[in-house]
Amino acid sequence: MLVFGHVAAATVTCHALDRQADLRWVVFLTLLADMIDKPFGLIIFSETINNGRVWFHSLLVNLLLSIILLLWRKPLVYVLSLWFHQLCDRMWMRPWVALWPLTGRFGYRDMAIDEWVYNVLNPYNVISDVIGLAVLLKFATHYRLFRWDRLIRWLRTGTLESPLLSSK
Ligand SMILES: [Zn+2]
Repeated sequence: MLVFGHVAAATVTCHALDRQADLRWVVFLTLLADMIDKPFGLIIFSETINNGRVWFHSLLVNLLLSIILLLWRKPLVYVLSLWFHQLCDRMWMRPWVALWPLTGRFGYRDMAIDEWVYNVLNPYNVISDVIGLAVLLKFATHYRLFRWDRLIRWLRTGTLESPLLSSK
């Protein structure tokens, strides 16, 4: 799953479960694994790892982050946002990553260009991202986030006002 699928799944579910949840945190936490692992695994360690799903896609790191969030008394939906990423990435299909460090160091992933293209543009990624984008557009329309004042207020507070509330 790419960006829109992740953001749509986490945002819509967390907002439904907790209307007061700061959706800026939800978006940040559900993208955190890719924001760390992609630049480090694919760019900084491109010669030795060459993989965009490494440390932050493991159960251990996500458990530690969950504990930190709970100790910090953050709402439960923030923890859920983290795990949504792992769920949407179907990490049970990559147990050698999910179970790190029990599975040892990450070795170099040798991948041909056609495999790369399929990895990014496989049907699961494309379909879930198209659906994710459609859901996000519907969500933004419902909350009238295409209005500049409402968008700015959401960016400042992280919470969404009822679509029935007219703005001053
Ligand atoms: Zn990921």
